[in-house]
Amino acid sequence: MKILIAVDMEGITGVVHGDQVTPTHPEYDRFRRLATGDVNAAVRGAFAAGADEVVVSDGHWDNRNLLLEQLDPRARLNSGSPRPFSMVQGIDGGVEGVFFIGYHARVGTPDAILDHTWSTARVAGLWLNDQETGEIGLNAAVCGHFGAPVLMISGDQSACAEASALLGSVETVVVKHATGRNSAECLSPHETARLIEQGAARAVGRLLAGKAPVPFRLTEPIGVAVAFIRSEMADGAAIMPGARRTGGKRVEYTAEDMPTAYRAFRSLVALASV
Ligand SMILES: [Zn+2]
Repeated sequence: MKILIAVDMEGITGVVHGDQVTPTHPEYDRFRRLATGDVNAAVRGAFAAGADEVVVSDGHWDNRNLLLEQLDPRARLNSGSPRPFSMVQGIDGGVEGVFFIGYHARVGTPDAILDHTWSTARVAGLWLNDQETGEIGLNAAVCGHFGAPVLMISGDQSACAEASALLGSVETVVVKHATGRNSAECLSPHETARLIEQGAARAVGRLLAGKAPVPFRLTEPIGVAVAFIRSEMADGAAIMPGARRTGGKRVEYTAEDMPTAYRAFRSLVALASV
């Protein structure tokens, strides 16, 4: 059984502020170590419960955060950017289940560390088939296209609640209780490692027992709607062939399938860099 571990950084153990996940900031080094620790706990749990292959997708910033030299040697690491499947790189390689480690809630969520959807600076909202969606739903839908269910998530309580509401009975591991966008009561890395390892093992055990959540699939064609922060960002995004300007700050696109919707969303946000 092959497991993909998709890793973001805002929901990693101890992270409460953007400085801690910004590569140029002195605090960042501490948190890439903590991120590698959260991932290693998930790798241990997956193998202990019967996985025989684990691939990791480093998915924050430029996708160069995790420390390969400290990663469990049984895992392989997708590192670097850009790449075809971005935060879930490797999903097209016969993956049977996915973990989201260090994930965060969508833009606009209260009591959620660093809530955002792809870009804090550019994106005010994302809708897929008219349902407001953050990075959890966006990436889960790409996994669902390939028939892979999301089995577990780690992050703050709001990210875990968002995943449960959208994906059903996914295993959730709360590593911190957010009390604002930049404040949380954090569990120690020692404790979160224990909880993540146990959650990962339960998740794989349920998959092997035929009791995993069903893959998250969206009905095709898929409507993508993006609300940008400022109207000139929508001016830039609307340049994309096939895009429709449906409001001062809003651009929409209809995609034949989820991989195309993912590429369209990423392209719209990239074009919005003004
Ligand atoms: Zn991130």
